[in-house]
Amino acid sequence: MTEHDEQVLSLLDTYRAHDAPTHGGRVLSYVYDSGLAELDALAGRAAARVQAVNGLDPTTFPSVALMQADLLAFAREVLHGPPGTSGAVTSGGTESIMLAVLAARDRWRESRPGDGRTPRVVAPSTAHAAFHKAAHYLGLEMVTVPVDPRTGTLEADRLADHLDDATALTVASAPAYPHGVLDPVEEIAAAAAGRGIPCHVDACVGGFVLPWWEGTPPWDLAVAGVTSISADLHKFGYAPKGASVLLVADPALDRARYYALTDWPGYPVVNPTVLGSRSAMSLAAAWAVVTRLGTQGYAELTAGLVGVTATVRQVVDGIPGLRVVGRPTGPLLAVGTDPDVPEPERVDPHAWAQAVAARGFVLQGQPALTQADGTVLPRTTHLTLTPASAGVLGELGAALRAGADDVRGRALGLGAAPAGAPAELPDPVALAQAARESGELDLPAVLALIEALPREQSARLLVDFLAAFTAPPAGRA
Ligand SMILES: *Cc1c(COP(=O)(O)O)cnc(C)c1O
Repeated sequence: MTEHDEQVLSLLDTYRAHDAPTHGGRVLSYVYDSGLAELDALAGRAAARVQAVNGLDPTTFPSVALMQADLLAFAREVLHGPPGTSGAVTSGGTESIMLAVLAARDRWRESRPGDGRTPRVVAPSTAHAAFHKAAHYLGLEMVTVPVDPRTGTLEADRLADHLDDATALTVASAPAYPHGVLDPVEEIAAAAAGRGIPCHVDACVGGFVLPWWEGTPPWDLAVAGVTSISADLHKFGYAPKGASVLLVADPALDRARYYALTDWPGYPVVNPTVLGSRSAMSLAAAWAVVTRLGTQGYAELTAGLVGVTATVRQVVDGIPGLRVVGRPTGPLLAVGTDPDVPEPERVDPHAWAQAVAARGFVLQGQPALTQADGTVLPRTTHLTLTPASAGVLGELGAALRAGADDVRGRALGLGAAPAGAPAELPDPVALAQAARESGELDLPAVLALIEALPREQSARLLVDFLAAFTAPPAGRA
């Protein structure tokens, strides 16, 4: 490396100075740390070997087809895809879901020529935001079915009541991200199949951990009526970001996600996913991680994670004023205020997250949500445990307990969204500038604002905030 190269990298290091730590179990969302440093090193080396490859054309770069085939074969095995199951390696869960929605939409349209209605996605209210985004991008209507506000659990009959001939796709999550609760996959899939509606299982977060999580009821492609499934390699597959798998049981439905074009003067186009030219680095990294771990490696990592999750669950259960929402399946859980204790003993989950952050662990606040039937899913704080959590369990437990002691009884509009918008809205640009300068953001205040404002207004506020946060500073071209 030349001196100039060193300077470039040291500039990057200064940029990274305020990033949350990606390893060591101190950030309980966003990152999925296997705790195996050698696995990360392997992924990095594999990625470097294909740095210049263009994943656009596997006929020119056959390694792309070979790595994809290995990953799909692995996923098909652990997710019990029936013979004929095919699919894609995508850039992430959002893209996998978008392609599943696209295929379902086009199949719905093909089977109803001349039907001018807007096709629908019917999903539990806990289904991932990516379905809302896909519906928005692809011109479908998103219908959300309320879950039990106390437990985050869906009653399959309530969802079945919404399945009609305008429904292009229905969804079950394994598990749902917000509370880590598994939807009743068998019942949802049966209701969908009975009406000829495709059923997507969103196992983006659970796909590479639930196969080894004992006692989990059937949830994957082995379930009759499940037509597609998404599973993120860059979550509990332990691969670097940029890799997910979509599997589709019916080859005809799977073809519907492709885009091909011969109607322009350039090279013939056939794209299995959203991007055109694309990096093969995340593919190679994921391939290396999966090949190295194999089912044995995942089984071992999951076995450790079961113990870690049980321990953290015990800690939270022992904290007065907080409770774990519902019955999570897998290494995710949501913590809310315990409404069964007197008010002075309650703990607000967002104030708690802030207090725990001051003690070195980053948890993820989730705002209250008013569902379609008017019931309110209370605000919670989300924890995703990873194998790396094992190395800091004692410290984490102490921080969770002490953080609750710090804020117990401090009311912050406990549990439900307060009525009406606040009198004065913060200026999102000023908020972004302050956050950029201090490196800190008053998250409880932002979350409270999201709860209080009408949805369109809070969404606009987020857009203005992020645009300002990422904009080049004035005077620097
Ligand atoms: C993470 C996640 C997604 C979206 O995946 P991205 O990789 O962030 O695009 C979808 N569904 C669930 C359940 C998830 O946890």
